Amino acid sequence: MTTTSDIDVLIVGAGPVGISTAMLLHKMGHSVRIIERREGPQRAPAAHVINARTFEVWRQIGVNVDHLRSLAQDPQAAGQVHWVTKLGGTVLGSLPYERQGDEMLALTPTPLRNLAQHILEPVLVDELSSMGIEIEYSTQWLSMVQEDENVVSKVSKNGNDEDIKAKYLLGCDGASSAVRRASGINMEGPDNLQSFAMIHFTADLSSLTRECPGVLYWLCDQGMGGTLISHGGDNEWVYMHPVDANYVVDQSPDDFESLVRSVLIDVPVDIKILKTSSWTMTSQIADRYRDGRVFLVGDAAHRFPPSGGMGLNSGVQDAHNLAWKLHAVIDSQSPDSLLDTYEPERRPIAQRNAQASLENAFKMIEVFEALGKPDQEGLKQAINNQQTHFDMFGLQMGFRYEIEGSTTPIAPLSDDVIRNYLPSIEPGCRLPHGWLVRNEQTISSLDLIDLTEATVIAGPSATANINYLQVGRDFEDPANWWGTVLGLAGDSYITVRPDQHISSRTTS
Ligand SMILES: Cc1cc2nc3c(=O)[nH]c(=O)nc-3n(C[C@H](O)[C@H](O)[C@H](O)COP(=O)(O)OP(=O)(O)OC[C@H]3O[C@@H](n4cnc5c(N)ncnc54)[C@H](O)[C@@H]3O)c2cc1C
Repeated sequence: MTTTSDIDVLIVGAGPVGISTAMLLHKMGHSVRIIERREGPQRAPAAHVINARTFEVWRQIGVNVDHLRSLAQDPQAAGQVHWVTKLGGTVLGSLPYERQGDEMLALTPTPLRNLAQHILEPVLVDELSSMGIEIEYSTQWLSMVQEDENVVSKVSKNGNDEDIKAKYLLGCDGASSAVRRASGINMEGPDNLQSFAMIHFTADLSSLTRECPGVLYWLCDQGMGGTLISHGGDNEWVYMHPVDANYVVDQSPDDFESLVRSVLIDVPVDIKILKTSSWTMTSQIADRYRDGRVFLVGDAAHRFPPSGGMGLNSGVQDAHNLAWKLHAVIDSQSPDSLLDTYEPERRPIAQRNAQASLENAFKMIEVFEALGKPDQEGLKQAINNQQTHFDMFGLQMGFRYEIEGSTTPIAPLSDDVIRNYLPSIEPGCRLPHGWLVRNEQTISSLDLIDLTEATVIAGPSATANINYLQVGRDFEDPANWWGTVLGLAGDSYITVRPDQHISSRTTS
């Protein structure tokens, strides 16, 4: 057995959240190790919605976001969701799928894309590797002992135990987090809402989707929950088949192929089953996010229904919130109490995201109830009522932390709050995006924000004797972002935290 000391942070789990956390902490100058029990990156698709805010976080880290986005589905092809009898059968109704168009560039430099998790993760692994950090695969986290200044973890790599001593331990180890269990942290909320068989397959279904290209297809002949998810072009798919809670994945590939064929109209098509698994939908949040030197991040802290695509996205944003606080405390710039702000800031966001995702899942029942009735108007109305499920830009971008200096209460969830994002400079909000020019390059206002320190931005006529970036001096503001989007006077200042959320605003 060996003991390794003097690392700042041990990260357990190399899913999208663990990898993003490792990149953030490494960029901030910290020694990190990241261990993963799998032998390599994720091979099966789960998440596909990567929202604008998550791309913004990766952009700030320095990930090649243009490359990532080039691997995503074409917004035209993935721009709709449909309710069909079977794939290729009657289209009963359709809705736009999220806001992916260029008009969104006024609000974010990186609009939402559909990018399957099994395509995303290997790219993130490569990005991390190019920073000099290799994921330690086939390494399982087993247990820990917390000390005054460190936490010592026992891990097993190919049967060999190792003790790893780190200042902090981050459980990015997903829904069944061993780190969470070892910390005595419980999950709150329903743990079994619906079960599914997940069938990952390839098939050229273009002849069935030509008339109705899209990313999600609800298969109405199949009963509640049967859904086809397009994961790239028309060739890679997941079929989520509703099953009862005792379902065991022990069918033959032929059985799974028959199941897939049962949701397609009868056409000759080759189907190759790649992977099958079962999965249970839950809506749960950890009752605490911190236990001493241990923090939960991502699915370890919250598990949402996928109806909203918020899981991976929320996890990356947890990491963004926590990393700069760890940096400030490890570097002795801030007291340990700064780390206590992680839970009260992030847990309410998880609660809102869980609530919206759960409401989306339940609201879908309306469509299936309307299907059984002769009144076609009722079905149309029921499908129309699903708009909030597929248009969540407000929830994705408008989340705000309850921090000192806020002058207005945070609005409760409503369809309007979920759908519509209004740029705001209320402390706790994300800095609104605007296009600026620095050194003759077009940048986003978000690009001004330092990853490790608060950034003060001042209007063109501010004169205080402090360190700040000034409109007109340090960057040009051709579209008057300062005055029009932020609504600030020329002699005002805003202070923005490293996670790009506003911490204060001041007029002279
Ligand atoms: C059908 C479906 C669709 C979804 N769609 C979306 C979507 O569109 N958008 C979205 O944002 N989210 C979506 N999600 C959710 C998303 O997949 C998860 O939220 C995301 O994977 C969570 O990332 P994570 O890194 O926190 O956890 P994980 O991806 O679960 O990674 C945790 C890692 O920890 C490792 N690990 C666990 N225990 C140990 C241990 N003891 N030692 C070492 N390693 C360990 C695991 O092997 C795993 O690799 C979807 C989920 C499903 C099932």
